[in-house]
Amino acid sequence: MPLRYLFIDMNSFFASCEQQDKPHLRNRPLAVIPTDAETTSCIAACYRAKAYGVRTGTPVWEARRLCPGIVFQVADHKRYVVMHHRVVDAVERVLPIETVMSIDEMTCRLTGDERQPLLARAIAHRIKNAIYTRVGDQMHCSIGIGPNPLLAKIAADMQKPNGLTLLTDAEMPQALFQLKLTDFPGVGPRMERRLNLHGIFTVEQFCRASAKTLSEIWGSKKLGERWYRLLRGEDVPDTPTRRQTVSHSHVLPPALRTDEGAFGVLMRLVHKAAARLRKIGYWCGAVSVGASFWGKERGDSVWWEEYARVPRCHDTPALVATAVKLWNRRPWKAGSPGCERRVPFKVSTVLSDLVPARSATPSLFDDDRKGEDISHALDTVNNQFGANVLYLGAMFGMRDTAPTRIAFTQIPDFDRRVN
Ligand SMILES: [Mg+2]
Repeated sequence: MPLRYLFIDMNSFFASCEQQDKPHLRNRPLAVIPTDAETTSCIAACYRAKAYGVRTGTPVWEARRLCPGIVFQVADHKRYVVMHHRVVDAVERVLPIETVMSIDEMTCRLTGDERQPLLARAIAHRIKNAIYTRVGDQMHCSIGIGPNPLLAKIAADMQKPNGLTLLTDAEMPQALFQLKLTDFPGVGPRMERRLNLHGIFTVEQFCRASAKTLSEIWGSKKLGERWYRLLRGEDVPDTPTRRQTVSHSHVLPPALRTDEGAFGVLMRLVHKAAARLRKIGYWCGAVSVGASFWGKERGDSVWWEEYARVPRCHDTPALVATAVKLWNRRPWKAGSPGCERRVPFKVSTVLSDLVPARSATPSLFDDDRKGEDISHALDTVNNQFGANVLYLGAMFGMRDTAPTRIAFTQIPDFDRRVN
């Protein structure tokens, strides 16, 4: 398979930006935090801090314990966006970017002779140098080159920081065997359990699995075949661009612009989105939760969003549980210093990666089936007696806070798309 893609992943991007801007922070263990408080958690750590076990999500107190002498820096998201654009600009002087995946990841396509390993390697070095000279010498990246975007990303993950990894035919698939199943984007702990249930415990077994087995595991022939082909280095076109999401968002009324109020409204939106998903006969594979926080002093607003993949589901308890987990990662929480300067202003949830119910298999896990039963009970009662007679505990007191007329505006669209 030719080397068609080059994937760039900036290493510890936020921490690197800080070290680039502030020379006194260089060569020191550094973590970036959302707000200056002992109760908050790290949102990024430099490699020196990572070596001590500090990760995204490590609480500040624990980071101090793990890594004595660690320095904390409050995040400056505006600055990181500026740096992101500089990185994009530097890369594009060498090679056009095909997709910007996130603030610190992008994919380029290699064509013609660029696909020769030697030339591809030289291009990667030119990209690294362009970033060093145009953005800064602290801005390291890991580059992966492979036959499709999935394998190029995996190649980039293989060597950090400042890596360069090619997955050529000669190295495939053995080069993958050192990985864990969960190193594959799209394989979380629960998908790993499903793979285990089918006798797949290693990447070697994963790579040898038949398309039929993978289809059973993913609950979809299309997805199973897609994985089968991706693992063999095929350049599988993305699934149709038909928009496949159910989303609800709501601007909080002034009385609910509190941590608690935002949570209540968010829970209601998740209940509605889950009911909607079942009504249109779809299952989702990913959940995201977002909020905008308005700054009382600066008058600006900051958009925050977290995303998690979930094993295909459509039941309210599972989706609520995921949304709660994501919400717990919000940068400003009640009680944490600094939260009085930021108030939630709008909340949203998006259920994505939808597949029709007929191509999803019912869950193998008892807990999930219980969730299914609860969801059907919710739907039956709510359909009969009006929306939201029944709802899960977290919604209590919030039944009327997200008027249906606002949140439902996109549904007619969606119906047309699905039918
Ligand atoms: Mg990165």
